[in-house]
Amino acid sequence: MIIIAQPNATEEQIKRLVTRVREFGLDAQISRGASRVIIGVIGPEALLREKPLAAMPGVEAIVPVLKPYKLASCESRGASSVSIGGVSMGRNEDVVLISGPCSVESRELRGGAFKPRTSPYSFQGLREDGLRFLAEARAETDLPVITEIMDPRDLSVVEKYADCLQVGTRNMQNFSLLKEVGRSRLPVLLKRGFSATINDLIMSAEYILSEGNMNVILCERGIRTFETATRYTLDLGAVPLLKSKTHLPVIVDPTHAIGLREFVPQMSLAALAAGADGLMIEVHDSPELAKSDGDQALTPEIFADLVPRLRAVAAAIGRKL
Ligand code: PEP
Ligand code: MN
Repeated sequence: MIIIAQPNATEEQIKRLVTRVREFGLDAQISRGASRVIIGVIGPEALLREKPLAAMPGVEAIVPVLKPYKLASCESRGASSVSIGGVSMGRNEDVVLISGPCSVESRELRGGAFKPRTSPYSFQGLREDGLRFLAEARAETDLPVITEIMDPRDLSVVEKYADCLQVGTRNMQNFSLLKEVGRSRLPVLLKRGFSATINDLIMSAEYILSEGNMNVILCERGIRTFETATRYTLDLGAVPLLKSKTHLPVIVDPTHAIGLREFVPQMSLAALAAGADGLMIEVHDSPELAKSDGDQALTPEIFADLVPRLRAVAAAIGRKL
């Protein structure tokens, strides 16, 4: 950490700053420039992070040297691979497609079993019945199951059936939920909060990692901006940024971002081109009858038509799908 003193800081103020740093058990090295003093703080940065040094007289700025997310940072390890029921995801793996309807609506239609809805009067999911249908679908198709967890109290039941836990946009900063899934043996797909910065998302991942669960996948799913023509604004810049800052797999959910079926294919292609390690796309066999998110779900026909185009983009950027 580096403390930059104000140009008019007095010797007395500098002395007090240095004393304070030493009181915290750290060492301080003073560099005197032509117009100002810079104090380099040597020692574990975490010790200082919570201390109110910036409020001391004579301080202009405090510049951290290390990232506040040590486990998620790409400095801590090389590209990680996360396995979901035997399917590996990561930047050295093939691109993975996750698809299905928004919610499990019946035995025939499988998706999320617990649904976070903006209105308490909207369909909330079939809960444990839905989980049973998902497990049945896995047995028939061999496809791993991902479903959302909204409440730490549901973890034990969801863990019985799922291969991966999804933490949705509305819960990205539900810290007790993050800690709880951090203690799970299942991988976690963490979706970006729609008002969260890239840094906020990484810090939320750090919560999970710091509890010992190293199997975290990040998902860009659109953020809220002034634009209302799309459901959210898909922030594709987040993909290369997250990949440069962390070692975690990064996927994109173009469906919830654009919110309009006809444009989901284009956004999926763009997400792959931006370097996504996977895509999560909602598909429903009768979107007009869907109990949630019908407007944005692809029909199986549109999805089938999209897959070879995705393969072509993957090949163009040197990846396989
Ligand atoms: C979903 O994936 O169905 C979902 C609810 O996503 P989000 O949390 O991104 O809105
Ligand atoms: Mn949905």
